[in-house]
Amino acid sequence: MSVTVVGSLAFDTVATPFGRRDRMLGGAATHFALAASFFEDIHVVGPVGEDFTDEHVAVLATRGTDVADVERISGGRTFFWSGEYGWDLNARETLDTQLNVFEHFAPKLSAASRGCDVLFLANIQPALQRAVLEQCAAEFVALDSMNLWIEIARDALTAVMARVDCVILNDAELRQLTGRPNLVTAARDVLALGPSVVVAKQGEYGAALITSDGFFSLPAYPLETVVDPTGAGDTFAGGFVGYLARHLDQAGDPEVLRRAMAYGTALASYNVERFGTDRVAKLTAAEIHDRVDRLQEMTRFDHLPAPLVG
Ligand code: AMP
Repeated sequence: MSVTVVGSLAFDTVATPFGRRDRMLGGAATHFALAASFFEDIHVVGPVGEDFTDEHVAVLATRGTDVADVERISGGRTFFWSGEYGWDLNARETLDTQLNVFEHFAPKLSAASRGCDVLFLANIQPALQRAVLEQCAAEFVALDSMNLWIEIARDALTAVMARVDCVILNDAELRQLTGRPNLVTAARDVLALGPSVVVAKQGEYGAALITSDGFFSLPAYPLETVVDPTGAGDTFAGGFVGYLARHLDQAGDPEVLRRAMAYGTALASYNVERFGTDRVAKLTAAEIHDRVDRLQEMTRFDHLPAPLVG
């Protein structure tokens, strides 16, 4: 199986209570690819500027990710995002977003990227997500987005959502998109658009999975040190979608979806331990398995019915 991803390839300036990094490698597609590359062959699609060095490309290509469709635009500058976190690491303020080379990017996918089995439309302008969707005949398509696109390109975004199998958004974005305060009814509204799976990311509280006839929820892995939450959602998506790609013939099986949630959760927990891509770029398969085991252990219980009054 192979997975194609389109989304931001970025430089991020991030300040958290634990430090600050200027113009480090980031972007939704970058974090996704680093996580998903543990499972399958990944093809990354997107533009970068002249400021994107061979060293950045080498990080992107970790674990063999194909970067043939990463186009370096001459005279262009790489997408830039800047954000700041306070003590509540679930809340962040975006200070700056510069689309730069993404503004006029018209993707032309290579045969390898077009021939993917699974497509991930990571966070970027919905028109670009659609342009890539139209070039692929993937069996399974998942999509992520964010508050900016819900605000300024809502119709284009819901039109793309109607054509995918799985939508992954955080809880605030689901509420913003649907106008529903309740997460389950918000997810049901998204299912009504066409997808069969909705994942609601809830930051340090974990993630919930909603299908037409099922609900599953996992807490985040309980860490004592969180340094930089940037990219946690994309890393979760890389683990979740990567695992599903690996088990594509069973992707509708509720047990497989639950295990995909566990892999997404484990990978995201590593991402937040260091700034940017530092931790996941050096992660090992054994470390991932270890955290999935611990997650299983800490979420299991036996129901021995208590003698109750009434
Ligand atoms: P996450 O923390 O998972 O929501 O993702 C953070 C990543 O998203 C950062 O690396 C940013 O470069 C990227 N990002 C931030 N804003 C946007 C945007 N408007 N479009 C695409 N990517 C973005």
